[in-house]
Amino acid sequence: MTAWYQSSCHIKTSLWGKTANSLPVMTALKDDINVDVLVIGAGFCGLSAALHLAEKGVEVGVVEAHEPGWGASGRNGGQIIPGLKIFPDEIVSRFGSERGERIVNTVSAAPKMVYDLIQKYKIDCDLRRTGWIQLAKGPVGMKTTDAHVQQWGNRNISVKALSFDDIQKKVGTSAYTGGLIDERGGNLHPLKYARGLAKACISLGVSIFCDTPATSVKRIGNRWVIKTLNGTIKSETVIICTNGYTGSMLPGLSQSIIPVLTGVIATTPLTGSLKDKILPGRQGVADTRRLLSWFGFDCENRLLFGSRVNSQKELIDKKNFTFGLRRMKEIFPKVDNTNLSHMWTGRVALTLDHVPHVHKLADGLYSGLGFNGRGVAMATMMGEILANHCILNKDNNNFLPLTSMPKIPFNRFRGIGVAVALSWKRMMDTARP
Ligand SMILES: Cc1cc2nc3c(=O)[nH]c(=O)nc-3n(C[C@H](O)[C@H](O)[C@H](O)COP(=O)(O)OP(=O)(O)OC[C@H]3O[C@@H](n4cnc5c(N)ncnc54)[C@H](O)[C@@H]3O)c2cc1C
Repeated sequence: MTAWYQSSCHIKTSLWGKTANSLPVMTALKDDINVDVLVIGAGFCGLSAALHLAEKGVEVGVVEAHEPGWGASGRNGGQIIPGLKIFPDEIVSRFGSERGERIVNTVSAAPKMVYDLIQKYKIDCDLRRTGWIQLAKGPVGMKTTDAHVQQWGNRNISVKALSFDDIQKKVGTSAYTGGLIDERGGNLHPLKYARGLAKACISLGVSIFCDTPATSVKRIGNRWVIKTLNGTIKSETVIICTNGYTGSMLPGLSQSIIPVLTGVIATTPLTGSLKDKILPGRQGVADTRRLLSWFGFDCENRLLFGSRVNSQKELIDKKNFTFGLRRMKEIFPKVDNTNLSHMWTGRVALTLDHVPHVHKLADGLYSGLGFNGRGVAMATMMGEILANHCILNKDNNNFLPLTSMPKIPFNRFRGIGVAVALSWKRMMDTARP
């Protein structure tokens, strides 16, 4: 039987894998070592946590089952999305006005943290600070984008409403009713960004071990003992950043999120008027539909289109991507959806309350996960938040409260649950666009 850490590696065949700069040199752990803090998982969250700790002089090790960026961080749409999916006012009503507004400010600042890190460590990752567009279809969608425009406006953050005509000019489609543009957003090459963060970590002395899956985490005496395939690490503190790829290493943690496989297709480079008419400003775009679609361009004018896949098995076969191919045709009828250059999948980690979770699982054991498809900025920000929790050993009060491990009810039936939820979302999209 194949062990979970030997699962297929689409990162190598994805568009990002084919176009990224080389991975910094690193090896698997083959010894027993001691570090102050061990980070498990080298996506944006784990790498950002390691980087922020190393900046403060903490001795950090990172173990990654595959290579930095192998998970969602190296496979995503690269859209730097400001804010959470839920409205700023809802954050305030859930967490109270004082803390709620601090959380709103923290999530609002997340894109800037990405830009600052890229600048500070000179990360070459095709960054475009062109804003982020959200598209609405029908009255339900418009209610969502209008509420975001109004609620961010009330906080002196200019998020502009887009009309049907604006969408035709800025996006090149008449498939949506209206939407918004948020200038805080941008887009980048996600695997280049992940590898750049890894390089920055290494430059500050962080030891990153690839092909080193952690298999257990146990408290023995006054240290955490983390077993990997060929070595053991002892540390005072452990930060788990495994998100949608969380396995059985720590019983219960994988049950706190719902991992959902999503798919991405990339066309061959568009040419002529199509390349200029679609997204001339080269923003990243997502819509508000329950089964959402998102799209954007890479630096070589390939149109990337992301949506649900038909099967929750990681099948790289056109039949698995028919939903996305159909949606792309509805939105851009002139784009040839038969001429694809790449297809790949990745796992998004959803939470039932639609916000990320910061856990204190035990003394000196933290995790941050559940970015609900908005992790480029938010997972980078979460890394800093987790680093601060480790250093200060207290709730820093500017983000979501630390919680112990919640359980998703009936999590054993997650597979069935995902299928039912997807069918329900499709039905609602059709009934109330
Ligand atoms: C197709 C797709 C498109 C997306 N598009 C966007 C987008 O445009 N904008 C946006 O903001 N967000 C997007 N997201 C979400 C975003 O990619 C994630 O939220 C973010 O990358 C999560 O980062 P992470 O570091 O928490 O997890 P990951 O990047 O998933 O990293 C987790 C890592 O943990 C490792 N791991 C797991 N278990 C172990 C273990 N036991 N030992 C060692 N290592 C382990 C895995 O190998 C993996 O590398 C998208 C996601 C997908 C899948």
